[in-house]
Amino acid sequence: MKAVVYNGPRDMQVKNVPDAKIERPTDVLVRITSTNICGSDLHMYEGRTDLEQGKVVGHENLGEVIEVGPAVDRIKVGDMVCLPFNIACGFCENCTKGLTGFCLTTNPDPKMAGAAYGYADMGPYNGGQAEYLRVPYGDFNCLVLPEDAREKEDDYVMLSDIFPTGWHSTELAGVQPGDSVVIYGAGPVGLMAAYSASIKGASKIMVVDRLPDRLRLAESIGAIAIDDSKSSPVEQVLAATQGKGADRGCECVGFQAHDTQGHEHPNMTLNNLVQSVKATGGIGVVGVFVPQDPGAPDQESKQGAINFDFGTFFFKGQSMGTGQANVKAYNRQLRDLIHVGKAKPSFIVSHHLPLDHATDAYQHFDARDEGWTKVILKTGK
Ligand code: NAD
Ligand code: ZN
Repeated sequence: MKAVVYNGPRDMQVKNVPDAKIERPTDVLVRITSTNICGSDLHMYEGRTDLEQGKVVGHENLGEVIEVGPAVDRIKVGDMVCLPFNIACGFCENCTKGLTGFCLTTNPDPKMAGAAYGYADMGPYNGGQAEYLRVPYGDFNCLVLPEDAREKEDDYVMLSDIFPTGWHSTELAGVQPGDSVVIYGAGPVGLMAAYSASIKGASKIMVVDRLPDRLRLAESIGAIAIDDSKSSPVEQVLAATQGKGADRGCECVGFQAHDTQGHEHPNMTLNNLVQSVKATGGIGVVGVFVPQDPGAPDQESKQGAINFDFGTFFFKGQSMGTGQANVKAYNRQLRDLIHVGKAKPSFIVSHHLPLDHATDAYQHFDARDEGWTKVILKTGK
């Protein structure tokens, strides 16, 4: 089958690889029709992980079930399904509590919890930027889509990751109707956080970034665009909230946060959040930060030991939630909002491209070239 394969830093190639197939009785085989490129893929693309060469990438997948293993009984051939990026068993201590981002079964590394398709450190599973995808524990890991699956495919594919992830950041922050919310990052995840806050009835939503096209998209859903290349984002948020700070804040950038001169500051958004959220306010962090590597020579850069202003966080009595989104906790409800026309997350989609164009698409998305907000790779018929 044709697939997007990691060939080394800044080198994704479309190659022929052995077909994905049913390997265990609980597997489901999906013919992929839509598969997105995600900001999380860029951690691997930019060479910040130890992803093995030859791995098929892609964790935002949607397609049609073409085969089911003998132990699968809920999912049927012909179902259109969206696959949460988390690969979860459904029966471990965490999964039974709904914490499927921290499944204790599917990641063979005992230091890690949680697994994903086509991802570094998240288990041995190939991704879905390919013609076919093997879905472990298929009965649990497939979200069945309604009859408008094809018509609303661009919306439903966002259920695999970024819509639930944006929603998760607002849950972690504790967003309630009437709250003011500041979101750092107007990438796909930040825009989905802003969209989620809007659905939840936030009274004021402020989105910080410096890329004009992304800030315009934030404005298109009623958020206030805060351009941090003009002046301090903290000052702008304080000015917009009568000096008090936002009730809630969401971190949707991660450890690749940088200043407007292009220098990396992995601590920048977290410290800005502590400053721009009110005392006792809540902060939800879904931007990815990596664990500390005790052997690394330079702990301050790109590693877990970032320079976080814990003192201000403590004295302001703020709370913070972090981690991979538990997609299954939200995706059925968000699917139903899409189905009845109350949510349309596809407003961020900028490109539909054939899988063959993946190498080029990665380059543009990684460069955050103007207008490259979200790419859907289309495969098959
Ligand atoms: P992206 O890289 O497209 O977007 C990040 C945005 O942040 C860019 O628009 C960039 O201009 C902006 N930015 C950079 N530095 C900034 C700063 N100092 N202040 C404000 N904005 C700044 O990525 P994305 O797809 O939106 O993903 C964002 C993060 O979310 C990534 O770290 C990704 O890995 C993570 N993520 C986490 C989960 C999860 O489950 N927790 C799921 C999906 C993605
Ligand atoms: Zn993703």
